[in-house]
Amino acid sequence: MEAQQISRIFTSKSLFYSSHLAKISRNLGSVKGKNSSLFPVFRARISSNNGGGRFGSVRRSVNEKSKGSGGFNNIQDEILRSFEDKNDVEVIFEKQIDQSMEKESQSGSKEFVESITNIMNEGTEGAMDPEEEEKHHTKVTHSIVFVTAEAAPYSKTGGLGDVCGSLPITLASRGHRVMVISPRYLNGTPADRNFDGAVDTECKLKISCFGSTQEVQFYHEYKAGVDWVFVDHPAYHRPGNPYGDVHGAYGDNQFRFALLCHAACEAPLVLPLGGFTYGEKCLFLANDWHAGLVPVLLGAKYRSHGVYKDARSIIVIHNLAHQGVEPAITFKNLGLPADWYGALEWVFPTWARTHALDTGEAVNILKGAIVTADRIMTVSQGYAWEITTVEGGYGLHELISSRRSVLNGIANGIDVNEWDPSTDENIDFHYSMDDLSGKAECKAALQKELSLPIKPECPMIGFIGRLDYQKGIDLIRAAMPELLQDDVQFVMLGSGDKQTEDWMRKTETANRDKFIGWVGFNVPISHRITAGCDILLMPSRFEPCGLNQLYAMRYGTIPVVHCTGGLRDTVESFNPYAQEGSGQGTGWTFSPLTKEYMLEALRTAIGTYKEHESSWKGIMKRGMAQDYTWDNAAVQYEEVFDWAFADPPYIR
Ligand code: ADP
Repeated sequence: MEAQQISRIFTSKSLFYSSHLAKISRNLGSVKGKNSSLFPVFRARISSNNGGGRFGSVRRSVNEKSKGSGGFNNIQDEILRSFEDKNDVEVIFEKQIDQSMEKESQSGSKEFVESITNIMNEGTEGAMDPEEEEKHHTKVTHSIVFVTAEAAPYSKTGGLGDVCGSLPITLASRGHRVMVISPRYLNGTPADRNFDGAVDTECKLKISCFGSTQEVQFYHEYKAGVDWVFVDHPAYHRPGNPYGDVHGAYGDNQFRFALLCHAACEAPLVLPLGGFTYGEKCLFLANDWHAGLVPVLLGAKYRSHGVYKDARSIIVIHNLAHQGVEPAITFKNLGLPADWYGALEWVFPTWARTHALDTGEAVNILKGAIVTADRIMTVSQGYAWEITTVEGGYGLHELISSRRSVLNGIANGIDVNEWDPSTDENIDFHYSMDDLSGKAECKAALQKELSLPIKPECPMIGFIGRLDYQKGIDLIRAAMPELLQDDVQFVMLGSGDKQTEDWMRKTETANRDKFIGWVGFNVPISHRITAGCDILLMPSRFEPCGLNQLYAMRYGTIPVVHCTGGLRDTVESFNPYAQEGSGQGTGWTFSPLTKEYMLEALRTAIGTYKEHESSWKGIMKRGMAQDYTWDNAAVQYEEVFDWAFADPPYIR
């Protein structure tokens, strides 16, 4: 990625700039880090105030010797000299030191090396398309701290992990300083090796909460331009996934994620990542209820002592159905001042109480975040609206509506490197929009792997996802007897609801040549299903964004989805008559959410697959041609970041 950027800069810039580049880059050398990539050690952003300026950054590594010889000031002088024809150049420096990056000179001694990235021309001389520039660069950079319960590939149970594993990388590539902080889960499986690259920072922290003092330790890995920080505590070391095990959700999740939030608030202040802390002027992106205490703590614990006065926080809602609700008595454990109870206070309506003496009093962490964060974001525009309605608001719709002016929805992107049918390592055959033949081979390979009859003409339908009421699994179960009467094959991958897992096993046994129920969480097989199937079914009751339909479209697999939330925003229903008969749309959406409407949509899709090959190919290609990169979303995120800093802090 980095190398690509650099070559693009050097080949596309005008001669005007190349003279400056020559000056700054006279010591240009190839810098190899641990990951064979270039990354910043000293970084400067050069901005001109005359409106037609340019931005640039110089990345430089430094050895012990040069650090001691004032190397940092020299870089500043050097850059100013190179831009001396401009009167109003402002140079902003960020420092990072990474010992893993150094260059051996020819004589064998270590020396300064520097490279140039992100030279951006806003004036008239630039040779690059402005839209292309906007996609790859940003003018204002922030120190961003993602707080999350999961981040792929370190940990993942769903879309949250995907988003927090890839959006930070895109933001970092656009010039922001980005930290992702999440727990260091160890569960005694090979997945523990995901954390092998993270080293102990030897920074320990004592946190007072839950009636005692807890010690956490920080681990750190610098990868793909992002500081991945892992909070270590025995509560994160146990069999199971981040939230629970075979017996259900862990009983101490409130404790586990409160600990994460306390640690996340301290990390920018205490962790000298690359030699320098993130400091107080940072932007916290608190993801879902697990990180919901962060904005509350900023207001309740830090700002009252003059700390984080210039920070901002955004609560990013990936799923409003999970709010972190526990009995009111647990408030005292959270390490918050007593007079902050109101921020988290939650009273269940009478009908939701369990017995006559139940007063319905609880604490709700997500609610606390909604009333204290500077802004609120969700993962699609459709969902941003839905959570303000009674049906989609899960009891929080009025509160969210009251903050509508700071609410935004931005549809997720996807990791287009991990999900690319022309290079995907999980599939045996590759294909692209220009040559779809590999898709048929992927289908045959999947049928073979699943011991299904190898029938190219038989429509193959897939479902991938958590076996949860949210995902409409009850509808799939209800529709299956009718659907299996047709000439179809159905493959279902997921885990969760035990009854559905059993049903999958039984249905497979009874329909061995038509139905495969793969119980479990398996990323490689999810790629092969996405590539091999013709249709992907997503009858989600609600879907904040949904990623599988995006993966499917990128793989030429047609989504059939309930018209809700992010599914509505991202899948356009096929219209054969549009575009003067050449057709329009990337799949099928159905509503209302009933078995009948779902079957009708599926049968329309199957009919098109069987009888209208050119229409089918058109749908496939339109889906594959969509731009799913995170860059689109990142530009919108940056706009929201700017708004967050334009307003004063919501809680002062
Ligand atoms: P949610 O976050 O609600 O679970 P999303 O569609 O946003 O749903 O994201 C789900 C992510 O988890 C996708 O990357 C999907 O491929 C992955 N996933 C879900 N279930 C499985 C499974 N059983 N095996 C492998 N990957 C899965």
